[in-house]
Amino acid sequence: MHVPVAIVGAGPSGSLLAWILRLRGIESIVLESRSCEYVEQRIRAGVLEQGTVDMLNKAGVGDRLEKEKMSHCGV
Ligand SMILES: Cc1cc2nc3c(=O)[nH]c(=O)nc-3n(C[C@H](O)[C@H](O)[C@H](O)COP(=O)(O)OP(=O)(O)OC[C@H]3O[C@@H](n4cnc5c(N)ncnc54)[C@H](O)[C@@H]3O)c2cc1C
Repeated sequence: MHVPVAIVGAGPSGSLLAWILRLRGIESIVLESRSCEYVEQRIRAGVLEQGTVDMLNKAGVGDRLEKEKMSHCGV
């Protein structure tokens, strides 16, 4: 398999980067040392800043977030 980009780590950064590259027609491979099951079940955040929410929506992966979110306007 030959792809132009290799991404190390399937955390939020690597996964979103792979998705955004794909939207732009650039294939990539994500190399992850942990199992798929571990990565999918590992909780990485309880609170998301607005900028993160905006970025997920802009990338087209915010559907579940928009359905299940609990918004707050605190500082
Ligand atoms: C307990 C806890 C609570 C948190 N709560 C929040 C929150 O409420 N809101 C928020 O915004 N953020 C929160 N964070 C921070 C958030 O989880 C991180 O900012 C985010 O996970 C960083 O994403 P990342 O993809 O850069 O790194 P990571 O999520 O650490 O992912 C890196 C991935 O790379 C893999 N990896 C590492 N080295 C290699 C290698 N050599 N080869 C292959 N794979 C490798 C790892 O297994 C991992 O899957 C929290 C973090 C923790 C620990």
